[in-house]
Amino acid sequence: MIFNNRYLNLGEEFYHKTPPVPVLNPNLIIFNHDLAAEFPASLSKLDHQTLVELFSGNLIPDSSIPLAMAYAGHQFGQFNPQLGDGRAIYLGELERRDGSVVDVQLKGSGRTRFSRSGDGRSALGPVLREYLVSEAMFKLKVPTTRALAAVTTGEQVIREQLIPGGVITRVASSFIRVGSFQYFAAQQNIEALEKLSHYVIERNYPELQHTDSPHLALLASVVTRQAKLIAQWMQVGFIHGVMNTDNMSIAGETIDYGPCAFMDTYRHKQVYSYIDSMGRYAYSNQPKIGLWNLTRLAETLLPLINDDIDEAVEMAKDVLGNYMEIYDDAWLQGMRGKCGLSEKGDSEADRALLQELFNIMAQNKADFTLTFYYLSQLNLLSNEKDEQLKNLFVDPQAIEKWLVKWRERLILDSLSDEERQSQMLSLNPVYIPRNHQIEMAIRAAEDNDDFEPFHALHEVLQKPFDYQPGKDSYMRPPRPEEEIENTFCGT
Ligand code: AMP
Ligand code: MG
Repeated sequence: MIFNNRYLNLGEEFYHKTPPVPVLNPNLIIFNHDLAAEFPASLSKLDHQTLVELFSGNLIPDSSIPLAMAYAGHQFGQFNPQLGDGRAIYLGELERRDGSVVDVQLKGSGRTRFSRSGDGRSALGPVLREYLVSEAMFKLKVPTTRALAAVTTGEQVIREQLIPGGVITRVASSFIRVGSFQYFAAQQNIEALEKLSHYVIERNYPELQHTDSPHLALLASVVTRQAKLIAQWMQVGFIHGVMNTDNMSIAGETIDYGPCAFMDTYRHKQVYSYIDSMGRYAYSNQPKIGLWNLTRLAETLLPLINDDIDEAVEMAKDVLGNYMEIYDDAWLQGMRGKCGLSEKGDSEADRALLQELFNIMAQNKADFTLTFYYLSQLNLLSNEKDEQLKNLFVDPQAIEKWLVKWRERLILDSLSDEERQSQMLSLNPVYIPRNHQIEMAIRAAEDNDDFEPFHALHEVLQKPFDYQPGKDSYMRPPRPEEEIENTFCGT
């Protein structure tokens, strides 16, 4: 692996050089061969022992200059001027075969200057959760960082009790966050802000390089990517759980999988994260919080946008003003797709029809994923296949009434059942990483050193849109006794 590191050239105030702290007795849990194949062949050809040493942080390639990035961030609305990579270490950039460049990071690799009171390590559970969920998101076609490898460390970390430790290697289009900009804005270091903005534009938005106002254009592009990203989260029932500004990627990818979860039963205000007691990052709040975070980004860019601060504010406001419309359009387009509706329908009428479905799902405790999967199988002129969908609802009549309206609306699109069903099935997954399944995989690994449930779940999630015979247990929602009410972050 040959690393480059252009981030290093930004200057010392951007990072602290820190090697990973070696671990005692690493073991490879999983190596992502598909992802590795995107890189020059040398990566796929590495022998097992080298992979173990590399992805545990025990072996640093000569070309890598490991560092921890500095950043700030609003955590649950409170500004913290100094966060930074406290348990992650950046190894550098790798070039893919197609010429594109990605960043590589080890997470759980030991203390850094930014660790504060933490140990810089990660328990095995959060490593497995991030591996499963980020790779599932990728297969669900949602922009995300990816997982390249996971290892056990052979050491234990101290949490409420002793738990085996792990390290995940993750790959991103960028590890720069909204909080990276906030770090320099808080110090009123305009020169550093400008360098950072140019670095991001060159790396992630090269098409903006020669525009009249590149920093404003950067804001507009991030606004667009985040609005569309969050619409996609809503469409798969994903709850990030900790959308702090330091966990919002400048490249518009889902990043920092902590106390995240997919919804089983549909609830508008669903929260899983144990620390989110006020529901700030509840399912239905995500679009709004996205805008709140982007407003924090806009504030940092003002001095770069225009020397006249009032004018800069107006320009930034215009850009932020587009967010909700971009989000709403993306939401409507995605949800129409999930219900087999084309753009031929009246937008407002379609929106109302979709909203009504969500209300009925909420009132009747219907499973989010299965509702859309079963809906995808229905025919226009016969209701003989309706039964399994209706059974998801406490009051089957409620959805029956809605299906009458839905079928009336389908006439407008004049698609055959086969055409509509195949479109819908390409958008509505059979399998999502259900929380109780993730928990079972983590329990087996942490408590019994048994990685079989992890591998089995990972395997099913490789093809979330294909029905896989014999895998019905991964499809079904949790039984009451299996339900997970809280998820925890990795700290
Ligand atoms: P996050 O959970 O990613 O939002 O983390 C917020 C901040 O806490 C970041 O600055 C992390 O680097 C830091 N942090 C989280 N867990 C640990 C840990 N185990 N050791 C040191 N720092 C940590
Ligand atoms: Mg974070």
